[in-house]
Amino acid sequence: MTQFDFGDVWLVGAGPGDPDLLTRKAERLIREATVVFYDALVGEGVLALVPPHVRMEPVGKRSGRHSKDQASIDRLIVEAALAGEKVVRLKGGDPAIFARANEELEACRAEGIRVSICPGITAASAAAADLGVSLTLRGLARKLVFVTAHSKNGATLDLDWQSLADKDATLAVYMGKAAAPTVSRKLIEAGLPVDTPVALVENASLGNGTRIVTRLDLLGLTANAALTDKPAVILIGRALGESTFATSGFYGPQQKSVENSGSVGG
Ligand code: SAH
Repeated sequence: MTQFDFGDVWLVGAGPGDPDLLTRKAERLIREATVVFYDALVGEGVLALVPPHVRMEPVGKRSGRHSKDQASIDRLIVEAALAGEKVVRLKGGDPAIFARANEELEACRAEGIRVSICPGITAASAAAADLGVSLTLRGLARKLVFVTAHSKNGATLDLDWQSLADKDATLAVYMGKAAAPTVSRKLIEAGLPVDTPVALVENASLGNGTRIVTRLDLLGLTANAALTDKPAVILIGRALGESTFATSGFYGPQQKSVENSGSVGG
């Protein structure tokens, strides 16, 4: 049973956006909290579940908007817990995946604050569900790699491309929109076939974002042409070839035949 005492902190996964994908535990913690510090990526439907008497504190980190740096967020959480509040730190997706959870865990532990994690559904899982595909394929995609393609202030992406270019793996690329052309080029240079299926999913689980199935050599072009400022995850690997989902103007509706022939056009 979940224990939530005054002075405790819970890092809670808000899931990909659809409030129906929130865990029951997360919903309970949100209702029991006295304060909720939430990210910009937390879905509106999820925020609507926070009862009116709970204080809501946006600490969003989205490029272009005013946001707090990580140290300030750590401090806010710690101060609220030390003041005796029941603190929920609500994060998009799963708190343990590309969500700076470690800084917050350490900041709390350094002050002797009890801090716990409530997992959430991560963007890659939601994107696979939207596409109607499995992220793993028996015998063909035995490995699933979560990787972030975010680089600080446009610095060169320092990733191990050789190990990422594994035809037996599915790559789930987070924060990869800006780096999509680089990801495409580097993976091809490292030996991944140019026609490796790629899916781009914006606003996974919310039903209002772009979903495109394309191929690795067209990833950069597709990302630039089709993606907006909504969060997007890029999935790469043979498993994505199983998706019949294609809304892209680059390809016609029969995605599989395009993939087999390797031709471009719609
Ligand atoms: N903790 C989150 C990831 C945070 S990093 C999780 O587990 O999902 C932020 C990145 O996650 C975004 O840049 C995007 O790549 C991805 N993301 C988050 N929500 C998403 C959504 N609803 N649809 C597609 N991608 C999403």
